[in-house]
Amino acid sequence: MKVLATPEELVQFRRNLKGSVGFVPTMGALHEGHLSLIKKAKKENDFVIVSIFVNPTQFLPGEDLNKYPRKLQADLEICKRAGVDGVFTPNPQNMYNEDEITIKAPKIKGYILEGHFRPGHFDGVLQVVNKLFNLTKPTKAYFGKKDAQQLYLIKQMVNNFFFDIEIVECETKREKDGLALSSRNIYLNETERKRALSISKALKRAAKLSSKITDIETIKKEMLNILDVDELQYIAFVDRNFNFIKEIEPNNTIILIAAKVGKTRLIDNIFI
Ligand code: AMP
Repeated sequence: MKVLATPEELVQFRRNLKGSVGFVPTMGALHEGHLSLIKKAKKENDFVIVSIFVNPTQFLPGEDLNKYPRKLQADLEICKRAGVDGVFTPNPQNMYNEDEITIKAPKIKGYILEGHFRPGHFDGVLQVVNKLFNLTKPTKAYFGKKDAQQLYLIKQMVNNFFFDIEIVECETKREKDGLALSSRNIYLNETERKRALSISKALKRAAKLSSKITDIETIKKEMLNILDVDELQYIAFVDRNFNFIKEIEPNNTIILIAAKVGKTRLIDNIFI
């Protein structure tokens, strides 16, 4: 496995790969969720490239950029064991320039939900993924449904900018009790972790109800009864194109939650 610390090293490495390339972009602190994307990429491609980069432009002032978990050595070990061919580990200095050209998330769907609570977040995500796509030139790129709005916007960017890349949607990996795996879960203490479980429980309950009831207000009430969080930022019902909906549409609905438990901001969702 090659560790590629600069864009130039990655470009050189990529030039020598003859065959399909699966790409898994991450911010590191790898867990089973990331690993499931890597394994899928491994199965479906001749080569796999993983990037590990805590991208500063997707963090807002006051967010957890500085304390975001960084575990490069452990991450490299995980990648090696998973049979990854190249790991790209750049730093902000070699990824960004002063006063550079930026891309903007779409005005509506980039600024609702996550984009509303984290304005500018998706500009940063799309900027870095754009760069990463140009560097890795993947055949397929793997993204988790855990970050459903991000996945939607990346698919839109691929369409709008005519990238010749297949975006592969990957299921959310959960702990046995249902908690969605996230690098940020390590911020939770024991009681917070228990309360955080109410998020996946509310989503599961909503999924069950939605097989019988299509009325969103009724489902939302049930969810609010289950949720035990400190700050509920949103419960949202959208279709697969992130249009808000008034009734559950079977096979075309995503229910999303963002909430803070203690100081930790968590997101989760369920596709219905
Ligand atoms: P991150 O390191 O948080 O930027 O995540 C990198 C990729 O892993 C993104 O495509 C995420 O959606 C995906 N991911 C994060 N958590 C999970 C999970 N629990 N299950 C599946 N994929 C995940």
